[in-house]
Amino acid sequence: MTSPTIIEVAIPLYVDKIFHYRVPERLNEQALTGRRALVPFGNRKLTGYILGIAPDSAITNLKDIIDILDREPLWTAGELEFFRWVASYYQHPLGEVVRTALPAGINIQTRKGTSGDQETLTQGKTARRETFYLPAPLHDLPRQPGAKALEIMAVIRETGNISAAELRKRFGTCAPQLKRLVELGLCTAVEHEVYRDPFKDHIVARDEPRRLHTHQKAALDAISTSLDRLQFTPFLLYGVTGSGKTEVYLQAISHALNLGKNALVLVPEIALTPQLTGRFQARFGGGIAILHSALSDGERYDEWRRIRRGLARIVIGARSAIFAPLKNIGIIIVDEEHEASFKQSDGLRYNARDLALVRGRMEQAAVVLGSATPSVTSIHATGEGRLTLIELPERVENRPMPLVELVGMKGHKETISATLATSLAQTYDQGRQAIVFLNRRGFATFLVCADCGKPLTCPNCTVTLTYHRQRGQSLCHYCDYAVPAPGTCPSCGGATLSELGAGTEKLEQELKELLPAARILRMDSDTTSGKGSHERLLTRMNDGSADILVGTQMIAKGHDFPEVTLVGVVNAEASLGMPDFRAAERTFQLLSQVIGRAGRGDTPGRVVVQALDTEHYAIRAAAEHDATGFYRQELEFRREAGYPPFAFLAAFAISGLSEQTVSEQADVTARLLAHLKSELKVRVEILGPAPSPIYRLRNRFRRQILLKAVNRSNLHRLLTAWRQRATVASTVRISVDIDPVDMM
Ligand code: ADP
Ligand code: ZN
Repeated sequence: MTSPTIIEVAIPLYVDKIFHYRVPERLNEQALTGRRALVPFGNRKLTGYILGIAPDSAITNLKDIIDILDREPLWTAGELEFFRWVASYYQHPLGEVVRTALPAGINIQTRKGTSGDQETLTQGKTARRETFYLPAPLHDLPRQPGAKALEIMAVIRETGNISAAELRKRFGTCAPQLKRLVELGLCTAVEHEVYRDPFKDHIVARDEPRRLHTHQKAALDAISTSLDRLQFTPFLLYGVTGSGKTEVYLQAISHALNLGKNALVLVPEIALTPQLTGRFQARFGGGIAILHSALSDGERYDEWRRIRRGLARIVIGARSAIFAPLKNIGIIIVDEEHEASFKQSDGLRYNARDLALVRGRMEQAAVVLGSATPSVTSIHATGEGRLTLIELPERVENRPMPLVELVGMKGHKETISATLATSLAQTYDQGRQAIVFLNRRGFATFLVCADCGKPLTCPNCTVTLTYHRQRGQSLCHYCDYAVPAPGTCPSCGGATLSELGAGTEKLEQELKELLPAARILRMDSDTTSGKGSHERLLTRMNDGSADILVGTQMIAKGHDFPEVTLVGVVNAEASLGMPDFRAAERTFQLLSQVIGRAGRGDTPGRVVVQALDTEHYAIRAAAEHDATGFYRQELEFRREAGYPPFAFLAAFAISGLSEQTVSEQADVTARLLAHLKSELKVRVEILGPAPSPIYRLRNRFRRQILLKAVNRSNLHRLLTAWRQRATVASTVRISVDIDPVDMM
């Protein structure tokens, strides 16, 4: 008699352990690596991920798995290696990493039935089938197919791949013509599963590769050479806005596809607009999968399966796409690599930009990090030779960089300076468009009581409430707490609340008063919450049915408005006040991006930047297009202060409902860390515990401890030891964030 098979299973729980189970004889052939198993766990049944056969089958007293949930494996050996790397680096349970990597729609939910221990299993979404028509290569015809059939054929050729349903929509009944076309060998009919297509309403015109200018050509050559060698090569593609980076991506991808390789493209969520995806579709036609957070679980699962089955050769997505089950990756592109949104801020706190380099190395792929304003870390890495620098120093067709004027606002009360007001009026009179940027939504920044002088604050979070006039509410931007406004002062009952500071809503109103005839749009998270609203606003800017666009950082990124010749920046230092060592970097990047929105068409652009502190190096460098100067000064500061890229950080966040328990747990944690540090003799600086900048968030009190180390493995050893030894009170949550980005 053979001994039963024992398997290793990862379970998505916050326990740092791999579990062993026995496989009952009836499941022996299905219990393979890469599948999910339903396993008994305590008195629950959970979904586990089979990692492989246990090396030692002498383990006794094991429970049997209950069932196998998949017929096909969900991940490959290579992907598992990647998951393991992620789990180790981010100090996160492997089961949780696998769960994060798989699409939500796949998960079988186990629910307690009414009869107690009975479980109801809800399978993931199922797919429909449909017929699609694809053009065949041109050849001589024995007979002519007829006029309507020829028209249909033209559409099939143009689209490259079109469904029967879509053809019916355009031509009415066309089954006889299609049959004829297939008989003549002009096209082929393929039946395959249809996937919910999030962009199906968009019809895109075909587009041809541009003839590259010198710098673009050099960039493409460098990337293509590394692609030909099939060797991991990381690049930083540093090109000002409008220098043609996307064109380089497109042609590099085309090169990879010709080599039989696939492409993964990561972009910030906010950039995942139909504009961008349309450019890829126009160039490559079908075979593109798009992953973004607005997809329903079903849509996401559909896209995931298309990728898994090799039906998509290009994957475009926000950060989670780094886990896409794409095989044979030749190139990974991370556009706007400096964006903070590549970092996941809860659960598995991974950074997709960093993981692109890791996955790229495992896949022997070319990795292209692209940006007009690279992260300070990337600039430093090029100096050290860890990233190969490719520059696109000029705008396409040598369009000049806009002329920037800095306006000092010290001692001024008005929101819009005279300089900006005049420029806006001129631009409007010339029939051109303008953008006005203010990185703060709402009407007033906050309301202050005229009697006691206290600002209106959130009862759940230690932040001021933002006054939104249109909604008639003061809102907490962190927990959504809202009170009718203006109202009365909660501290003293005073009836007069005055407005302090300006948000986009107020700016919009002032612009309306300034230019009553101008058509003004506002774009911020208040005006773009509805589905498609973001795109509608962009369309109105593009088709010229608006004159001025007011908005937060949403308007700063990625959009190409050729008619915009004036950009105004109100309160340039809004992002400098953050208690974060990256505040200057963020400010520089944001200002440079906004400034880059001016004059993308044929008319040179003009920018008016209003700031209280016109001498700050981040503001000055952005206004003078002096990136080199900024990076030099910022790296000096980071080196002196011992911040990344000269040190590695890990942040402990301790939170809970009881202030005292949180404080005690924070002290216990810091003491244990200090003890382990001397036991291990590692050089790690332990800062804190200290109250987090937002001390109270959604009713939870928050403290943090920051670890800093020059040597990454020292930091890693300390964290591993801490995880093995720590005891955490059940009412307190501790999260460890490796390479933290947001430390509020
Ligand atoms: P970036 O991604 O750096 O902002 P894009 O690739 O979007 O720049 O290029 C800016 C504009 O210039 C786009 O409209 C693009 O189609 C166009 N463009 C890019 N490269 C070329 C080229 N070699 N010749 C002509 N137009 C180009
Ligand atoms: Zn709040």
